[in-house]
Amino acid sequence: MTQAAPDQDIRFGGFVSARARARLVEGLRGKDIKHEAVLKAFSSIPRHEFLEEALKGRAYEDTALPIGYQQTISQPYIVALMTELLLAGRQRAQRVLEIGTGSGFQTAVLAQVCERVFSIERVGTLADRAREHLQRLNIQNVSLRHGDGANGWATKGPFDGIMLTAAPEKVSETLFAQLAEGGVLVAPEGTQYQQRLLYWVKKDRAVLRRKSVEVVFVPMRPGHVQ
Ligand code: SAH
Repeated sequence: MTQAAPDQDIRFGGFVSARARARLVEGLRGKDIKHEAVLKAFSSIPRHEFLEEALKGRAYEDTALPIGYQQTISQPYIVALMTELLLAGRQRAQRVLEIGTGSGFQTAVLAQVCERVFSIERVGTLADRAREHLQRLNIQNVSLRHGDGANGWATKGPFDGIMLTAAPEKVSETLFAQLAEGGVLVAPEGTQYQQRLLYWVKKDRAVLRRKSVEVVFVPMRPGHVQ
């Protein structure tokens, strides 16, 4: 059998994407992502599988890209940073809630570093596509729900990590209430134009807030749509 030359691999097959992924991982190391399990997730998950055909060729650039419905797949560096903050030095997390499944890429990264992931998406079509992407990669420790994530998923909590990938003006008390003792909540918080990535650690029932970098996320919206 003949092996296609890398630059002729129009299907963006394994060989090309593995090399592109390795370069992306080196870039993430250069931006100070240190958690080995997070880096390993980036070297093994094919980000191009979460994108439409026309954008697959850009999958390993460190940029956010459109996924339809005015939403975006987050920039790889931000996905890595948020995952590292969520783990807070732990090797793995047990139960994690993600709000804003989008393409499902961040969900797939979480699925590698957590025992069980629960993820909520308000746009039905995006939730369906994310489910397909995760099934195609045979990722089985994820439960997806189509709905409004504002109230979390109380029956599955408490969680030792909660991550928001859409920005509320303020994270609600309802979500903090679903955080387990020692748990970490990571979220962009602010207005549509100016947000900061924040994380909170629940310790002795108090919640301590820390600041990270400035970011631009899509706003968290109420309700859900098909
Ligand atoms: N982590 C995703 C980011 C997608 S963008 C990725 O990398 O693909 C943020 C997502 O949050 C969008 O898909 C948007 O529809 C969803 N979202 C916004 N408000 C929401 C809410 N209240 N509940 C659940 N999902 C919400």
